[in-house]
Order: sequence, then structure tokens, then C-alpha cells
Amino acid sequence: MKTKQHNFSKLAERLKSSMIRELLKYANMPGAVSFGGGTPDPETFPRHELSKIASEILEEEYKYTLQYSVTEGDPQLINQILILLKRIYGIEGLSHENILITVGSQQALELLGKVFIDSGDYVVVGDPEYLGAISAFRMREPRFVVAKFDEDGPDIDMIEQKIEEIDRAGEIKKLKFIYVVSNFQNPSGVTTSLEKRKALIEVAEKYDLLVVEDDPYGVLRFEGEHVPSIMKLGGTDRVILLNTFSKILCPGLRIGVVVADKSIVRKMVLAKQGTDLCSPSLTMRLAARYLERYDVLEQIKPAIELYRKKKNEMVRALENYFGDIKGTKWTNPNGGLFIWTTLPEGYDTMEMFKFAEQNKVFYIPGEAFRPYSEPSSSMRMSFCLPSVEEIHEGVKRLRTAFDQYRVSRGMK
Ligand SMILES: *Cc1c(COP(=O)(O)O)cnc(C)c1O
Repeated sequence: MKTKQHNFSKLAERLKSSMIRELLKYANMPGAVSFGGGTPDPETFPRHELSKIASEILEEEYKYTLQYSVTEGDPQLINQILILLKRIYGIEGLSHENILITVGSQQALELLGKVFIDSGDYVVVGDPEYLGAISAFRMREPRFVVAKFDEDGPDIDMIEQKIEEIDRAGEIKKLKFIYVVSNFQNPSGVTTSLEKRKALIEVAEKYDLLVVEDDPYGVLRFEGEHVPSIMKLGGTDRVILLNTFSKILCPGLRIGVVVADKSIVRKMVLAKQGTDLCSPSLTMRLAARYLERYDVLEQIKPAIELYRKKKNEMVRALENYFGDIKGTKWTNPNGGLFIWTTLPEGYDTMEMFKFAEQNKVFYIPGEAFRPYSEPSSSMRMSFCLPSVEEIHEGVKRLRTAFDQYRVSRGMK
């Protein structure tokens, strides 16, 4: 019998299995150390509290929790979100019409693509950039304008230069937004400086553009000063802020938050109706009641302290095992879950991967975070899940892998 050749859409034909999934296939084998995962530690999830609330709201609020909700999201959760926006960012004066609750930030990224991007449009992203955003935008076939991400955020001069070119070509209306993960970027761990945040808004004003600020990690700061958000600096006229409960509460609830101008929220609501009608009433109400009863910013403190310790251990291990290799560097983030390690020029972390795999240590090659996947000498290393011993052991193995790779290439 012949297997049926399905007549997929052009979009479906373009979809490929994620490189990360392929790479991390063996990351869970016994004895392996994985710096690859990007997920929070399950031990930080308040499971007992959530379980108690879940049973209550199923019994007592079933008319809401087991029913369709409005597309905009649970009004009671939005009340709590408005309080949090004030506490976290000092943002005030917003109303319910400025908020949309999505199924994780991932859906917000996808909806942004739907309401802003037509095939051939431009969006500005970083190098490196959050892979989830690239995949969501890519569905809409944009041209990615790629700007280097430095140790203090995006290269603004490069952004301006590229925007100028687009403007000169008479295509500025096709440039839809500048996307930036402002705090402890995934994958680099970099926080965009206050100067660069202001400069980004200046560029956006000069060319009448939007900035999409994605901030899942801002609350996970373990040292240093809070930097005012781009939304706080630029307001809803210029900025769309994405947030999520995935990294501060738990990803399984799938709750993301869009903060934007009312007209943008309205369009995204219409787009969401065609996607899923509404976010799950049950998890939205669960989050709302949790936020009413517990202080999520207090509750997350022990986790932040744990991440701080592990980050410091990873930096120490890198100094121990890679300190003698000229041209190697790593970021030392003040929060979040990731360190970005860069090997000397000419090395390719994708090529090195097989040596790492043989040594049972895993990371994500930098190539995965480039919209046009070019070879990269960098890698993303998460310090969140491995234990302190595993962090040291893993970095030690990484050095072994590096030496083997170096020899195989005849490099010194
Ligand atoms: C984890 C993460 C998200 C959140 O995704 P959810 O869909 O809300 O779980 C969004 N943006 C970045 C940069 C992330 O790292």
C-alpha cells in the first residue's frame, strides 16, 4: 500500500522540528548533566496552595471555572494583574481595556504576528534572540532585521542604520516593531541598560515604530538595581509589554499577559477569537485566587536566592575550567536563568556538540538563537535545574569536550 502524501499548506511544509528538541534527546540519560533546559525548577511551584484553591474553585465557582470565559480574560485576574503591574513596574493609570490574557506569552507572540506582520514586512530582533519569538513571527514570513546584542543590550547604532536603509527604500511602513527581551534575556542573560532603553524609544519615536518589550524574567533579579521598563519609559503609545506567570509561578497554568494600547488589545482579541475563543477559565481563576491570597513576589524569593547561588557557582566553574583560554568569555547575569558563554573566534558550538554529548554534558548551541541560523561560537547554559555539584562537574566535562574538539580541528 502506498503511504498517502498529504497536501499540506506552504506554511506546514516550512515547519521543521525544533533543533533544540533534537539536540536534547539524550540530555536526560543517566549520569548526564544538562545545561540545556530552559524551564524553572518544579520544586519552586506552590503545588499545595494551588491544589487547595483548585478544589475550592471547582466546587464553588464551577459556573465560571468550567464555562467559557470572555476573550479578554478573567476580570478578577486582570484586577490582580493591574496591582502587580503597579508593584513591579510602577505602571499606573491602566484599565481593563489595556490588558489581554493569553495562553502563555507564546500565544501573545503569535497573535502579535497575526495582527501586525504581513509577508515581506520587517521586524527587528536581536542576535542572539529568544527562539520562541522567532518561530512565532516566522509563521508570518517577515524579513528579520538582525541587530547584535551587546553586553548592555541591542546595538542601537546598528538598529538605526538598518532602519534608515529601510526608510530610504520607502519601506518604513513595513517595519512593524522592534522586539526586545529587556531583562536577563533568554538566551544571553543580558539586561538592556537604561540608556539603551531610552535610545530605543527615541528611535521608535523618530520613525513612528512600536517596541515589543518581552519581560518574563524581570522579577527574577538576584542582585543589582531594578531598571525602569521600556513600557514605563515609553508608555502604551510606543510600547507593547508582554509578561507571563511561567517563570514566577508555573508554566503549566499557561497564563501570559499583554499590556498595550486599547486599539491593539482590541485587534488581538479579535485574532484570539479565531484561535481559541478564550484562555482557560479554570487556570485564570486559579491564578486570580492565588494572587489574592499569597504574595507571589514574596513567595518567589527562596527560588531567586537558589538561582543566585547557582549562577555564582556556574561563574566560578567557568573561571576554574575556562579561565585560561584566551578569547573565551561569559555573561554574569544579575537575574534570570541563563549564562551565555562564547568560545574564541572560529569555534563552532554546534560542531563541538558531539564531543559534549560523548562527555554527557549538554547545552544549546548559539546557532539555535539566530533567525537565519548561522554558525556561532556561543552557547546558552542554564544554571536553573542542575545541582551545585552537577554544575561544577558539567563545566569540567565541557572543558574536556572543548579540548577534544580543539584537537580534532588541529586548533591550539
Ligand atoms: C519563557 C519565555 C517566555 C514565556 O513563554 P510562556 O508561553 O509564557 O510560557 C516568553 N519570552 C521569553 C523570552 C521567555 O524566555
